[in-house]
Amino acid sequence: MSPQAIRICIVGAGPRGTVALERVCANAEVLAHGLPIEVHVVDPYPAGGGRVWNLDHPRQLLMNTVAGDVTVFTDQTVTCDGPLTPGPTQYQWACMVARGEVDGITPEGQAEASAILPWSYASRALQGEYLAWAFRHIVAKAPAGVSVRVHRTRAIGLSDTADGLQEVRLEGEDLPLRVDAVVLAQGHYDVEPTDKERQLTDFASRHSVHYVPPASPGEADLAGARAGEPVLLRGLGLNFYDYMVLLSEGRGGRFVRDADDHLSYRPSGAEPLMYVGSGRGMPYRSRAEIRKEIVPRYQPAFVTAEEIARLRTAAGTGRNDFRRDLFPLVSKEICWVYYQALLADGEPERLARLRTEYPAHTWGSDAMEQLIAELVPDPAQRWDWELLDRPADQVDFADQADFRTWITAQLTEDLRHSRLGPDASAVKAAAAAMRDLRDEVRQVISHRGISGASYRDHVDRWFSGLCNYAASGPPATRVEQLLALIDAGIVEPMGPGMRITADEQQGVFLASSTRVPGLEVRARSLIEAHLPLTDVRRASDPLLRSLREAGGCRAYVIPNLDEPGYETGGIDVADVTFQVMGGDAVAHPARFSYGPPVESVQWVTAIGARPHVNSRTLLQGDAIARACLRLGANRVGSAGIQNHTQLAVPVASRRRKPKEEHHDHHRGSTRTCRDRRRRDRRQRRREIPDLESIS
Ligand SMILES: Cc1cc2nc3c(=O)[nH]c(=O)nc-3n(C[C@H](O)[C@H](O)[C@H](O)COP(=O)(O)OP(=O)(O)OC[C@H]3O[C@@H](n4cnc5c(N)ncnc54)[C@H](O)[C@@H]3O)c2cc1C
Repeated sequence: MSPQAIRICIVGAGPRGTVALERVCANAEVLAHGLPIEVHVVDPYPAGGGRVWNLDHPRQLLMNTVAGDVTVFTDQTVTCDGPLTPGPTQYQWACMVARGEVDGITPEGQAEASAILPWSYASRALQGEYLAWAFRHIVAKAPAGVSVRVHRTRAIGLSDTADGLQEVRLEGEDLPLRVDAVVLAQGHYDVEPTDKERQLTDFASRHSVHYVPPASPGEADLAGARAGEPVLLRGLGLNFYDYMVLLSEGRGGRFVRDADDHLSYRPSGAEPLMYVGSGRGMPYRSRAEIRKEIVPRYQPAFVTAEEIARLRTAAGTGRNDFRRDLFPLVSKEICWVYYQALLADGEPERLARLRTEYPAHTWGSDAMEQLIAELVPDPAQRWDWELLDRPADQVDFADQADFRTWITAQLTEDLRHSRLGPDASAVKAAAAAMRDLRDEVRQVISHRGISGASYRDHVDRWFSGLCNYAASGPPATRVEQLLALIDAGIVEPMGPGMRITADEQQGVFLASSTRVPGLEVRARSLIEAHLPLTDVRRASDPLLRSLREAGGCRAYVIPNLDEPGYETGGIDVADVTFQVMGGDAVAHPARFSYGPPVESVQWVTAIGARPHVNSRTLLQGDAIARACLRLGANRVGSAGIQNHTQLAVPVASRRRKPKEEHHDHHRGSTRTCRDRRRRDRRQRRREIPDLESIS
């Protein structure tokens, strides 16, 4: 490694590691001042897709994001400080593959790409191929001074050196990397099991039964879920749909569509009998079908930039309460969308009255209730958060057959609404707005925007789950398949309030529902159908564990007004800069983290970058990459390497020219690159990089 080069290590080569690399390349010309740049990317899994987007996983595992909505490249909407370097979305890339413009794609990938539409849900393996291509493309187009080295191994340690560098130890490699800055883009890193999971694992090994702790379904060992035998699935979210497909179609069964467009399931005989349930008892609602390549983001009418700024003034004080201060606005916004869509097909006077009178009323006020009651006389048509969240709570079930009839009707209705899409279904219009509004909610509640108690009780224990259930579910085809599997007797929904115990005497798992009388299932297989939560306090990932033990990072605490704060499992990072906070509450100048490891500092991080919406992932990746480059340039500069021009190398001509004007969106002014270079020089003199604002 050359001491005259800027050296950066990116731990994790998934989507965020790839974005960070791309942003280093994009900013090289403006911030490296001709110095060479060495980027070390560390991941035991293939670069680009990393562990989640694994090419070896069964193609039946689908994304829950449509192909037109997936990217790792900056488009014209991205207001980052670095140069924009557009690239194809997953859909545009699939078209390139179909036209034969991309090498190195598997035959399965070729076949899938040829059939893809902007609103298709690609397999996760195809996303792996897209990301692997993106990574190769970024490396191939990197400015000539940038060299990228991929280390297919784990990073197991991180420490400071006496001369101010970062030392990253790699598994199986004798020599550590010594770099200027480290980006921890470790996504869904490994964690220790909880006490409960450990007990169930012990139980399973004592009684030779099958237990799958929380895991990514593509990695789970399902051999113990035997043909014809009951298997319990606890959890009815996205992970459940994955297991459902792996244990049906993945076992050789087939979904068949008849002339009347009815989907049925033909078993292979190798399927287990899936007993499925959760607290709510209702699987995640399906996504609406939207047949457009670019779906514009919902523009809020009430959760406006002004309201966000107003609510942010109390950030860090522990005074804001989600339920009291933000939820009424969120509710007003979602109902605004819902009632406009609901009334759109009715008498125009009602819609006109809604539009005139609704905005002035406070959510939940008598005047608002009265207006809604007059415009929507049927109470069954009015928006009801509790009913949305807990649809089975007010229903009595006589027995399991009764529950099956009820849930089949619910799923069928949900599917009908998804097929109608947000233009024709008020419920799905509201769900789509709810999904988009997460960005405004994120802006308010992230970085200590609300009190710790409120974050725990209202966000972690309620709103996050509700949003996932109502607005971030699977493709509609998954619900259709679930209905076919219920019909074929392969899936048996157990009802709300699922209870599971490990029976020591019989050596089996016993399952029942608190709401469905007379149902008890004995099973020799239990699958926890959800992902493990990232939690730095339980990290088994050697780098994060050793870093925390050495005081190099700490769990993020959200303060309360007059009680101790709420300790979360997120890694504490500084607001704005995403620099990792040490145990001593000091932000480390050369360590950065973003994505799932910092969940709860930021809300909803387990999500990929979306095109056309000024994606936060891209903004953050850019700011972090720029800070890393400045740190390196600063070190090399202060080490007395004078003649930078000797090291200067030509930069790929397709990149934005340095003299081009660049609009500085954060300050609302237009500046030249010379201004920016001056500012960059000023910043290089500082010890801690100034990342400017990351909105
Ligand atoms: C099963 C599953 C399905 C998902 N489906 C979707 C979807 O359809 N749409 C969507 O938007 N989001 C989905 N997500 C959310 C997902 O978090 C993001 O889409 C995205 O993958 C996050 O990118 P990332 O780079 O931050 O993290 P990751 O994708 O998790 O990548 C992190 C990388 O870091 C590596 N790593 C961790 N520790 C170390 C170490 N010590 N040394 C070296 N490398 C290390 C890992 O091997 C991994 O490759 C899904 C997540 C999962 C788990």
